Amino acid sequence: MRLALEEALLARQKDEIPVGAVVVHQNKVVGRGHNLVETLKDPTAHAEMQAITAACSTLDDKFLQECTLYVTLEPCPMCAGAAVLARLERICIGTLDAKTGACGTLLNVAANQKLNHQVEIIHSILEEECRELLQRFFRNKRQRL
Ligand SMILES: [Zn+2]
Repeated sequence: MRLALEEALLARQKDEIPVGAVVVHQNKVVGRGHNLVETLKDPTAHAEMQAITAACSTLDDKFLQECTLYVTLEPCPMCAGAAVLARLERICIGTLDAKTGACGTLLNVAANQKLNHQVEIIHSILEEECRELLQRFFRNKRQRL
């Protein structure tokens, strides 16, 4: 989660909402990414998508079995859907997202029994740091308006 926070800081440097993600396979980082929605003008350029794409490339596999995704903010429906498609084993979440969280908060896409794969969810890892990074970002944004 420390590495995911480092990625989130890279996003903040680009004035992106600070969310970072890392994919780990057998104790090795195989993919990392941070939010690039503004930079790329791409609404799908979430941190998790970047990290999943990078991990698939590193492992040369469309599936990320036995992989864990560490992400500073609870994934949205798109990213939770991508995690299911990638057959990730586990998602470790920093802070929950009351607005778009799709790993149990608003929806439960990641561990939905109706889908053909369920991802194990663990949350509140370095919760305070992940939450404060986001809160500080939005507070500064509001002050600049
Ligand atoms: Zn997302």
